[in-house]
Amino acid sequence: MKRNVIAILIFSLHQAVFSNQLDFVGVDEKNKSYNLEFSLEKTALIIAQSSNSPFSISLEFKETSMKEDFDLKQNYPIKNIKSSSSENNSIIEIFFYEPVSWQKPQQIKTENGIKVLLSLDQNKKIKKMTREAIVMIDAGHGGRDPGAIAKSHNVIEKDITLLIANELFRTLEDTDGYKPVLVREDDSFIYLDQRYQKARQNSGDIFVSIHADAFSLPSVKGAAIYIWSEEASSNSAKSLSTKKVSSVRVDESDFDEDLARSKYPEIYKKKKEKSLQLGKKILDQLKRDPYTHLHKKRVEYADFRVLKSLDVPSVLIESGFISNSEDAERLKGKPGRRMIARSLFLGINNYFKENLEDDFFIYDAEGYLTYTVQRGDVLSEIAIRFGVPVMDIINTNLIRDEAIFPGQRIKIKI
Ligand SMILES: [Zn+2]
Repeated sequence: MKRNVIAILIFSLHQAVFSNQLDFVGVDEKNKSYNLEFSLEKTALIIAQSSNSPFSISLEFKETSMKEDFDLKQNYPIKNIKSSSSENNSIIEIFFYEPVSWQKPQQIKTENGIKVLLSLDQNKKIKKMTREAIVMIDAGHGGRDPGAIAKSHNVIEKDITLLIANELFRTLEDTDGYKPVLVREDDSFIYLDQRYQKARQNSGDIFVSIHADAFSLPSVKGAAIYIWSEEASSNSAKSLSTKKVSSVRVDESDFDEDLARSKYPEIYKKKKEKSLQLGKKILDQLKRDPYTHLHKKRVEYADFRVLKSLDVPSVLIESGFISNSEDAERLKGKPGRRMIARSLFLGINNYFKENLEDDFFIYDAEGYLTYTVQRGDVLSEIAIRFGVPVMDIINTNLIRDEAIFPGQRIKIKI
């Protein structure tokens, strides 16, 4: 009897750890756009990738189980959707008649658990499987959490971070191959844990957290880049991170990043390397920024919870000290903020240049970025955004009299 009780206990413990049921819900089509819907009990680690031989997408749902395997025929352009399982993982493969553009899956919280959506678009123009790089932009603080406050300079951190985030969002949004996602879009409060959870829910390829700092010594100034480490590398980083430990909240249905780091050391090791690479690329750009002084010449390590994702390369920028009058003025002004956003964009772009996946289309066949002109754009501002001379854009795109129009697609070499 006793033995049975123990066996049941062990069994239910096993269930508690590994049971996260995955179900296929169906396919929804609208104007050649398709949503494949799945359901989960909890947010999962999903490894998503595409292949061109044959045209397919595979989704590996770690530590999930399915009731039974299936192989379902579908309508054009999807051939079939097939499932299989190995150990504690479920694998869904979707095969196509032709290449499609796709987005890494989104995991959306609902009352009944997690709705997983894989979005696809039929696109006759593409010759291979194609997807956008997803950049998570995290404007630090917000709502009842103002972040640093510099009364004498009339600056609040949460305002500065949102303005820089929006500026970066715009450049990425209007550049082919990128899909920026704002962690917060307005002055709302978001828990630290929800911020990196959002990166997982949106399948972010990278995560960039934007901050500004304040210090008791008004002479301290400049920008710095941080990546995550449990053991902070410097004392100033330590004091920064203890400030950020406030506002902790984890949901039952959330993915446990802390547990996952010990389960998947290889994935975590790669994330650390890629975070450092991304941090260095952004720092290299900050060094070239004529407006911004550097507080730290190297990428620093700090125990910032917001950066602790298992697999999403994550960096945090302190764009300056608003307690310093020079930095406060720089960050209050649009040109100064735009320079921070530009360094972030160029750093991100250089990072992806070295980490181009087969299905990215950031660069065209001739090695150009493509930017779509927006209402109100002028050439000189576009040139500043991308850090290139106006004449380069004019010559490459054969523009006469600096005349550009909304919707015009211009090539940029960087
Ligand atoms: Zn902050």
